[in-house]
Amino acid sequence: AIDFGFVRDNLELVTQNCIDRNSQANPKLIAELYGEYLQLNKEVNSIRQERNENAANMKRKLEAEERQRLIDAGKGLKEALGAAEIRLSQVQDLLQLEGQKLPNLTHPESPVGSEEEAVELQSIGQQPAFPFQPRDHLQLGQHLDLFDFDSAAEVAGSKFYYLRNAAALLELALISWGMQRVAARGYTPMSTPDLVRASLLEKCGFQPRATNTQVYSVENSPLCLTGTAEVPLAGIHADKILAEEQLPIRMAAFGHCFRTEAGSGGSASKGLYRVHQFSKVEMFVVSTPEQSEELLQELVSIEQEMYSELGLHFKVLDMPSQDLGAPAYRKIDFEAWMPGMDRYGEISSASNCTDYQSRRLSIRYRPNPGPDASNGAEPPTKKSKTGGTTAFCHTLNATAAAVPRLIVAILENNQQEDGSVIVPEVLRPFMAGIDVLRPPG
Ligand code: AMP
Repeated sequence: AIDFGFVRDNLELVTQNCIDRNSQANPKLIAELYGEYLQLNKEVNSIRQERNENAANMKRKLEAEERQRLIDAGKGLKEALGAAEIRLSQVQDLLQLEGQKLPNLTHPESPVGSEEEAVELQSIGQQPAFPFQPRDHLQLGQHLDLFDFDSAAEVAGSKFYYLRNAAALLELALISWGMQRVAARGYTPMSTPDLVRASLLEKCGFQPRATNTQVYSVENSPLCLTGTAEVPLAGIHADKILAEEQLPIRMAAFGHCFRTEAGSGGSASKGLYRVHQFSKVEMFVVSTPEQSEELLQELVSIEQEMYSELGLHFKVLDMPSQDLGAPAYRKIDFEAWMPGMDRYGEISSASNCTDYQSRRLSIRYRPNPGPDASNGAEPPTKKSKTGGTTAFCHTLNATAAAVPRLIVAILENNQQEDGSVIVPEVLRPFMAGIDVLRPPG
């Protein structure tokens, strides 16, 4: 349930938000369509009522002439109702279509503008000082026989890869360590379907059927390959009414991510940095509106601990309005120093999506009646079918371990002059006894 009434009543605010976020949504059109929808809804209801009254009148004892008049009126009302219902459903479809394009509102502290406006919240660790010219991950990979891009290009195409030798173990080590690490923080470990319904992606704020979409579709099927485990994790709670005591629900999943990467190119796309398929450990939380800001801080603190344990030097950034995905209200990115590329590269991101996904997915909870239970519209509440008042939940997501860019960062930061690479201590228990990556043979 997108809050179209909010758009109509706060048109200036919503329009400015769309401008700030460089969004293609058209709030003015949405407000107009919503007005039309309400009008048509009224019309349909009033014709229905007239028709019912007409039908009730027919049950009485009537003169033949009067009966005929009512029969004719009934026919006219049936036609009028059919026409109004068609128009109502057309307006509803248009409203949904336009509504899907709306972005979430933006946190008042998020910077406004494009990527360059990102605000650095923290810088952790130091850039390693190499007494030699550092190699990039591709040179290291060649030296250590870690990747096979040529075979992958033959088998699947560009931006695919095989991981080989210690790199294949490193992927599994990052996943195992990542899952254990977040499970220790109270996140239920899960493994999720990689294919999901297009309708679920839409409700999560992705646009699987748009031109230039990031989403791969499966032909002749309602399914798409998901770009992140956030989507199947969110889907678990669709159409549910949760008890306040159940919240927050913390989950973390291992899943594969598939992305068309339409429109991205350039040298940053070399090697493992930007690929069509990768594995990831993703955290996902369902909370009350009151809990979500603090939970974003929790997710950020877990990410911070994890990347510190890997020995990386990274920055924590409050991302600007134009860099937020449609569902995000606030987004905190992590960028790690990548010496071979001589720049920082994004390794992870955490978003508070407030009620954007839960409205579309219908994820509700029943607040405990408190002293201020009847106090106003925040959070938006409604009577549920089973009685009692319900409100929309908030959802959050954050990357724990996105494998390829962590491999890039680990190789480039931990390299030694001879081209060997020291395995971060926390990953060693998962590396079959390999502490240092050395050339084979
Ligand atoms: P996102 O879900 O877009 O916030 O991405 C989460 C993380 O996945 C990013 O911070 C990157 O570390 C990683 N990532 C995103 N897209 C790609 C890609 N095409 N190739 C490799 N890693 C990616």
